[in-house]
Amino acid sequence: MKTMTSSFPGFTLKREEFIKEIDSTVFLFEHSLLKCPVLAIKNSDSNKTFSAAFNTVPTDSTGVAHILEHSVLMGSEKYPVKDVFGEINKGGLTTFLNAMTGSDITYYPFATRNLKEYFNIMDVYCDVVFNPLLTEKTFEQEGWHYHQESLDSPLQYQGVVYNEMKGAFSDPIRHIFHHIFAGLLPGSTYAHESGGDPRNIPDLSYEEFCAFHKKHYHPSNGMFFLYGDAPLEEELEFLHDRFFSTFSDPGKRAEIKKGTPPDSPVFIEDSYGVDSTDTTEKTFLALGTNVSTVANREENTAFQIIANILFNSDGSP
Ligand SMILES: [Zn+2]
Repeated sequence: MKTMTSSFPGFTLKREEFIKEIDSTVFLFEHSLLKCPVLAIKNSDSNKTFSAAFNTVPTDSTGVAHILEHSVLMGSEKYPVKDVFGEINKGGLTTFLNAMTGSDITYYPFATRNLKEYFNIMDVYCDVVFNPLLTEKTFEQEGWHYHQESLDSPLQYQGVVYNEMKGAFSDPIRHIFHHIFAGLLPGSTYAHESGGDPRNIPDLSYEEFCAFHKKHYHPSNGMFFLYGDAPLEEELEFLHDRFFSTFSDPGKRAEIKKGTPPDSPVFIEDSYGVDSTDTTEKTFLALGTNVSTVANREENTAFQIIANILFNSDGSP
């Protein structure tokens, strides 16, 4: 292992390794003050890729992490545009552009072959995640608000995420997975629906929404990823000078709650809406069990192979 801290001011190189299978040199850095990891996979691939990710750990099913993912993309002070992705797309130079909310993490990745655009979009991405406008209007539009079609019609809930999740939850499979996680991992982070359960989304207040951003969107609670043929020194310098150096104190990493697995079988029964009164072949049965944690890749792969053999192939019993 070489020590190269001096060539990358602000960062400590923790590990460097050439991985033959992907013809890449992989570097793991840690920001000296903020302690966030920066993983760089460097090779000759012109698809330069950047991702900022944060541990967004829900404590309820209001979908706060998901609503936040939508809302930071509604602009920052430096980039006060209504639709960040729409503006970037106008340039037509990206080969990938997205944002995703997982059960304990939110990612903002993009890729481009153009070096100038790479740094431009990296600036937009970092600025909107660290300094978003997050107005009350954005919260109501992306999260939830009351809507009334006319004076004598009933009040309704509306909102981009609210409507998106109503669509997602119209699929009974979504309910089943939610119940499996809640039943097998009670008291854990994974017992909550990070995307938002439409029944719980209207419980979220604007103040809680802003507090969730303040708590989770700190570099110390983040992980940053670089890939491709862009000059590594410039990438790190860019991140440090423009963003990380504006934080004077290290923040805390959000804690993922493991909960206590049940020690006897749990039975959960639920109903869902169907279009007609005919409920023939509309009943689902699911059986789940805890097998491993996400970090145990070998065991998880083995169980995936077993599941494929037993259920997913044409020859499955
Ligand atoms: Zn969404």
